[in-house]
Amino acid sequence: MKTASTFNDALVRVKSLAELANINPEIIEGLLHPKEIMMVSLPVRMDDGSQQYFSGYRCRYNSILGPTKGGVRFHPNVNEDEVKALALWMTIKCAVVGLPFGGAKGGITVNPKALSPMELERLSRVYIRVLADFIGPHRDIPAPDVYTNSRIMGWMMAEYDAIKRTHAPDVITGKPIELGGSLGRDDATGRGAYLCTLELINKMGWNLTELSVAVQGFGNGGYHVARLLQQAGCKIVAISDSQGGIYSEDGFDIESLWQGKQQSKQVKGVYCHGSVCEIVKHERISNEELLTLDVDILIPAALEGVITKNNANKVRAKAIIEIANGPILSEADDIINNKGIKVVPDVLANAGGVTVSYFEWVQNRSGQAWTIEKVHTQLKERMTAAFEKVWDLAEKEQRTLRESAYVQALRRISSAVEAHGTRDYFNHN
Ligand code: NAD
Repeated sequence: MKTASTFNDALVRVKSLAELANINPEIIEGLLHPKEIMMVSLPVRMDDGSQQYFSGYRCRYNSILGPTKGGVRFHPNVNEDEVKALALWMTIKCAVVGLPFGGAKGGITVNPKALSPMELERLSRVYIRVLADFIGPHRDIPAPDVYTNSRIMGWMMAEYDAIKRTHAPDVITGKPIELGGSLGRDDATGRGAYLCTLELINKMGWNLTELSVAVQGFGNGGYHVARLLQQAGCKIVAISDSQGGIYSEDGFDIESLWQGKQQSKQVKGVYCHGSVCEIVKHERISNEELLTLDVDILIPAALEGVITKNNANKVRAKAIIEIANGPILSEADDIINNKGIKVVPDVLANAGGVTVSYFEWVQNRSGQAWTIEKVHTQLKERMTAAFEKVWDLAEKEQRTLRESAYVQALRRISSAVEAHGTRDYFNHN
């Protein structure tokens, strides 16, 4: 259950945490207003010959730290309010991990599963056709998000190149490797969250091999974090997708579940070892039930607004790693904190994706292709350093990890704004 306005909810956090960080009110005010938002109608010729119109959005929220960066979501619930909230979170996230980017987000209101591959290609290309002057390698750089992938990024880049009569791989990230994508971008979001989880486990003095994990959303982010945590020794006892979830006390083999999902398009407790397929004893559970399981670590990796004041009290996990953007509404923050649940916030936990997108952009601009080892090493360095800074400030100032992450990001943004001068400067000259 979401509140009426995801954007208002995002603003509530920014306002209260900016005050906590002692940010100049003029700068806070600036952060409440998105820089630019485009709303567009996208005509698509369907396979049956008819013409359908889809609504598209792109918001460049704030560009004080650099060109804006953010994914493109294809989902039936995409709307202006959600896109603005996601763009604001991107602004904070890029600042938390110290990237030279501002925040943006885009999306199309569509059920992509109802389109044929050719319709999907036409829709992706028309989105870029109408936004070609709004985006650009120095201006705004899209990437994948929910229900978009590397193939779609490739179509989008090709359309941009055709319109601008250029070759600009740095206009979009998350592309196929063959088209200038970076090694390691596919699992970057899950890997970043995995690295944060390891850091947290270490700080808390927990034993990795004794931990149970539940993951909501078995897509790009959810699959990879579950895979990496299982490889490291955790037990993944619950997984879900939009169709519902499965639970097994003994834990699942994630790779086999993933193969099964690719074939059946939904998670099922059926998996194979070698040539022997077996049915794992499991229960079917709802997405709502997954959130309240008695597990050590809960990883919401689907959509925003799933933990509200109505179900926060029932959450039993010791820690929550937010891969989804905004899975916990601000109204539930106090309830979750008072229960002593450690939350690694979205603006840190899912920043691995934009970090490797930044690596991709750097490689495209310098004509290089990094090895997977270099990508992994650099990602680890950045994620670990960001986590450490957030953790240390939280300890020093007795804050939650979310408060600490926002305080750091807002201070970084604030210093950049101050460099241009605010009222205090102009009044004294
Ligand atoms: P994806 O499209 O690859 O996967 C989404 C998954 O969520 C799918 O398994 C889908 O079935 C499931 N899902 C959809 N609706 C659901 C529902 N109501 N309940 C439970 N599951 C549901 O998307 P993704 O890229 O993994 O993104 C997931 C979340 O992570 C989003 O909030 C996104 O903004 C965030 N995120 C993604 C990236 C990235 O690089 N992909 C980066 C940062 C944040």
